[in-house]
This record gives sequence, C-alpha cells and structure tokens, in this order.
Amino acid sequence: MPKPTRIWTDVDYDKPGKQVGWLYLHHSVTRSAYGNIMIPIAVVSNGRGPTAFFMAGNHGDEYEGQIALCRLIRELEPGAIQGRVIILPAANLPAALDSARVSPIDQGNLNRSFPGDPDGNVTQQIAHYIDSVLFPLADHFHDLHSGGSSLDYLPFASMHQSDDDALNAKSLAALLAFGAPLSLVWMMSSDRRYGPPAAMVRGVPALGGEFGGGGAVSRAGVAMIERGLRNTLVHLGMAPPPEVQDQAPPARLIKVPGRSYFVYAPEPGLFEPLVELGEEVESGQLAGQVHFVDNPARPAVPCHFRAAGIVICKRHFGRVERGDCVFHLAIDHAAA
Ligand SMILES: [Zn+2]
Repeated sequence: MPKPTRIWTDVDYDKPGKQVGWLYLHHSVTRSAYGNIMIPIAVVSNGRGPTAFFMAGNHGDEYEGQIALCRLIRELEPGAIQGRVIILPAANLPAALDSARVSPIDQGNLNRSFPGDPDGNVTQQIAHYIDSVLFPLADHFHDLHSGGSSLDYLPFASMHQSDDDALNAKSLAALLAFGAPLSLVWMMSSDRRYGPPAAMVRGVPALGGEFGGGGAVSRAGVAMIERGLRNTLVHLGMAPPPEVQDQAPPARLIKVPGRSYFVYAPEPGLFEPLVELGEEVESGQLAGQVHFVDNPARPAVPCHFRAAGIVICKRHFGRVERGDCVFHLAIDHAAA
C-alpha cells in the first residue's frame, strides 16, 4: 500500500467554479513549530470535460511560466471553459521565492525528484503530491520551464519521447496544437525523475518547454506560453476556437537525438563562445575556448561540436567549471 501524501489543501478538486487556495506542507522549524509552507494552487472548473494541469516554478529561477500562470489564475473564469484547469504557478515555492533552481531548504531540484517521497524532504514531498494526487486527476500536463540562471535558450515547447507510442502520439498532437514556432522532441531515454516523463508514466500526455533563460524574463516567451495555453484549451475541446483564426506559420519540429549534441567545458576558466543561438553549425566546428586569466600565457583550450545542428542552448555565465554545459544543439525532426 503506497503511503499517502502528508500535504493537505483548502481547495476541493471536485467543486465547480473558481478556487484559489494553497497546498499546506507542514514545516516545523525553530521559528515556527507548527508552521506550513503554503504553495499556491488554483482550480477553475465548469461541468464535465477534460482536466488540464498547468505548472511553472518547477525551477524557481525560470520566470515566464510563473508570470503567465499568475495572470491565468486572475483572468480565467469558469464560464470560459468546459472541464477543469488546475494551475500550480510556483511548484517549488521555496526555490521560486529564492530565485533559484533548487530549494534553499534542502537543495532539492524538484525536476529530479519525481515520483517523490511523502516522508522525504520538502522538495520530495512536493514531487510526491504532484505525482500521486495531481497527475491522476489530469488528462494533460504542461510543465513550463526556461534556461534558468545558467542557460539561454531559443524558446520552444517540447515533449519527451517515451516507450508508449500511443502516449507519444497524443503528446505530439498537443505539442503541435500548442503552436510554438519551434517544437522540440527530447529523444534521449526518458528520465522519470523529471516532471513530464513522470506524468507519462502515469499515462498523462505531457509537455515541457524552455521559454527564455539567463535569469531574465522574455516577453516573447511569456506571449508564446499564453497563446499556446489558449490553443491547448481549444485542442482539448475545453474552449471554442477563436473567431479570428491564428495566422501563425506552422511550427518547425526539431529534436535532440542524444548526448553527443551537447558541448561541455573541458577545463575550468573563462569561456568564450564562438557561435550564437540560432546558428547552424557543422560537426567538428569550433564552439568556443576556455581562457585562463590567472595564467594568461597558457594557450586557450578549444572545444568543438561533436554533431551538426542548430544552436538552441548557450551558457549564460562567462565563468565555467569542467563539465558545465556550454551549448546544445537540435536537428530537424525529419532528419535521420
Ligand atoms: Zn527548468
């Protein structure tokens, strides 16, 4: 018998109408013996229909989704939908309030913590609640990310390829319906410690996406999310199509085939990138070089791309440690 969550909530998932409340995670510390971490959650429900579960703040320093979902909570009214929308705008609230990828309480990375543990640390308890309570309610899950403090991204919506072909087809249809100009499929073996693969283990079609980065807020990324979530509600049959049809061009579908499409810093030092986001590069092309400001006579150490593709991710900070990701690539999905 799996252990139940210890988190309780003041929202009723079965109640019609709009509720904005909290998940209460008991957190007993010196300054507050019987205290709680209160994680905001909203439920907007009207009649029978699918349940869409939108989440942001899985990583606290990724802001576009947090902003878009806060606005959605204020603006979405039950009469505008058929079905139920569950919104968790700051899933790892301690990390979101600390503008950090991981929780300042336990250093937990929520997106490496699924399926979580009801008796674990704060981050593991949040993951367990999402996995054991919210995923079973959902017919569609979207986990909104960006590159965070350390990475800049060409913005895209994404899905993880799983072992389940039917679920992959449903996720791909939702990805294309979301309508981001770039839509990406992560082809590498699916890691269920991440949110979307964990949802897919539960049988829920799931999307992700990187909508900006560098610890900043991309206006284009926020707009892409808001337009995409409206398209998602139409796709799920929860909202009528807009009277004026969107004239956006069809998405370019790309994929990340594997680890060889990533470039890592070969040495600690100061990384000089030699290509930009959006550039097409060749296998073997010089990606950048590491300089040694404490020993400037030492020649810079180059690093190279190991595959051809489009630069979709670039390190934001100049200083690197050995093993830091400095670039990654994607290729057209139709390519072999
Ligand atoms: Zn993230």
